[in-house]
Amino acid sequence: MKKKLTGRIIPVLVVLIALPAPAREKLKVVTTLPDLSYIAQQIGGDKVETFAIAKGYQDPHFVDAKPSFVLKLKRADVFVQIGLDLEIGWVRPLLETARSSKIYFGGKGYVDASSGINLLEVPSGDAAQLRAKGDIHVFGNPHYWLDPRNGKGVAQNILAKFVALSPNAAAYFQKNYDNFVAKIDSAYAGWKEKMQPYAGAKIVAYHNSWPYFEKAFNLDIVAFIEPKPGIPPTPSHLVSVIKKINQENIKVIIISPYFDDKPAKSIAKRTGATVVKIAPSVQAWPNLKTYFDLFDFNLTKIITALE
Ligand SMILES: [Zn+2]
Repeated sequence: MKKKLTGRIIPVLVVLIALPAPAREKLKVVTTLPDLSYIAQQIGGDKVETFAIAKGYQDPHFVDAKPSFVLKLKRADVFVQIGLDLEIGWVRPLLETARSSKIYFGGKGYVDASSGINLLEVPSGDAAQLRAKGDIHVFGNPHYWLDPRNGKGVAQNILAKFVALSPNAAAYFQKNYDNFVAKIDSAYAGWKEKMQPYAGAKIVAYHNSWPYFEKAFNLDIVAFIEPKPGIPPTPSHLVSVIKKINQENIKVIIISPYFDDKPAKSIAKRTGATVVKIAPSVQAWPNLKTYFDLFDFNLTKIITALE
């Protein structure tokens, strides 16, 4: 009996050893925003699977930290966030609950996408003091993905992490990154041309999400409906915005879909300006599937309202 078994086991082992190594599992990538998932998928291709915690129509400053997200994070190889203080209020509790040293701040699978990005509006004051006053942009404006050129910086940070974790696929990731960068450069040239007739157009925004977008497309955001990022409008502040719109003949008020549009609509009524809902992220609306769709959509909406 013993002899028979031995005789069978050895050929099985030989067959197992001779088989090629099983295909490596895909890197599991969890990101805070869908924009980051889109870019990570472009770089990672079929070697990664991505999941975004926030929906494109949610305010990225405030997202519910659901238990299902903790499970995703526990299993993740890579975690990518926009960083600064954009998501800190919900990312910290999620990472602390997930207790995965791999993707915790500074871990080997952790990516702060803001690394190397040229930040705008970095305040000189003490961050803790600014936060105590209700400000939610205390390390500089965190909405940098709204300049498509910054998408390249985000892609570079993600590329570096993918290469470090899967060095065998380095050439594949690099090729995808090069393609993505070329696509951004070409799309950006087209968008700039499209916006050329509206250079310097003055607009009003609800929240201060758009300085990078403003710079990228040569717009001029002259006032915000929020008196400070995260602080709801007061009647006296609204009066000052109305005055400005009338004095400077401003035609457009841009607002993200997750904000209460009543103050903007009431300003529009008293000034003749148009309220334009634009997308703060990929998938803000179901048809905005890509990072490129985001800019195509927003620029078309703004141009239509300016004309
Ligand atoms: Zn903000």
